[in-house]
Amino acid sequence: QLAEWAKLVNEPSVSKDGKRVELVANIGTPKDVEGALKNGAEGVGLFRTEFLYMDRDELPGEQFQFEAYKSVLEGMEGKPVVVRTLDIGGDKKLSYLPLPEELNPFLGFRAIRLCLERTDIFRTQLRALLRASVYGNLKIMFPMIATLDEFRQAKAIFLEEKEKLAKEGIPTSDSIELGIMVEIPSTAVLADQFAKEVDFFSIGTNDLIQYTMAADRMNEQVSYLYQPYNPSILRLVKMVIDASHKEGKWTGMCGEMAGDETAIPLLLGLGLDEFSMSATSILKARSLIAKLSKAEMEELAEKALNMRTVDEVIELVKNAVQ
Ligand code: PEP
Ligand code: MG
Repeated sequence: QLAEWAKLVNEPSVSKDGKRVELVANIGTPKDVEGALKNGAEGVGLFRTEFLYMDRDELPGEQFQFEAYKSVLEGMEGKPVVVRTLDIGGDKKLSYLPLPEELNPFLGFRAIRLCLERTDIFRTQLRALLRASVYGNLKIMFPMIATLDEFRQAKAIFLEEKEKLAKEGIPTSDSIELGIMVEIPSTAVLADQFAKEVDFFSIGTNDLIQYTMAADRMNEQVSYLYQPYNPSILRLVKMVIDASHKEGKWTGMCGEMAGDETAIPLLLGLGLDEFSMSATSILKARSLIAKLSKAEMEELAEKALNMRTVDEVIELVKNAVQ
């Protein structure tokens, strides 16, 4: 099997009946680029920039970040690189950035909420990204977007920094796509409205599942409720994909679900455009997709959406995909 997968390293990701999708990697540091390419990634679907902020005594400056982003963009040789802006808070803390103690950190002051308050931190990151944008194919996405207003504010700050750099005579790319992560049910429900304003969606199922099921993703006691194949999750995913396509936009997924063998047939059927996963899962996923017919998976997904339980969905996929 390993030998069979190895042959797919430089191949496109195509279903049996010719539907092309993109299989890309989740990375945390510039060092991960090598492994992504070695495992056949067609790009980076999620660069978790938190890691640039961790294991340090102070906030990373613009130049340090610029070099990291430039290195990833150059290393990926023009392939798309989706960088997520800082997603700190919740379970992720920074020693040098004291945050208020919260009763429910996962429902609290984190990610874009923090960035829109601490715009100094946000602006530094956006400047570094903008400066690096001329070295590759950069796309930027904002985490934990709950309202259209948050996206508009983030975009406005991005455009202000772009304008400032232009005045300073520093070149930036004019084709940076701006997207959002869909991790909060409110955003999935209003995806049709978001789709008119964003360039793309990336569904963060790790959080979307926890918020939809109201089940902490780290809590063993309620892990039975953490259900990627729950029809409610599948329906939310469908709403997002359909909404994006209606506006000529694309949808990716960068939660664990995107690399999951049982989920992939369903996601292909639902029309997902980009699957972002840990690099080591890519070749296996490419080989699986090559064996699946998109048309058949569409029918499968349609049935799954009307199942009542997770077990029914799993059974359905197992019987269809041997
Ligand atoms: C997600 O929520 O699915 C996601 C990719 O973000 P993280 O796992 O970093 O919260
Ligand atoms: Mg998340």
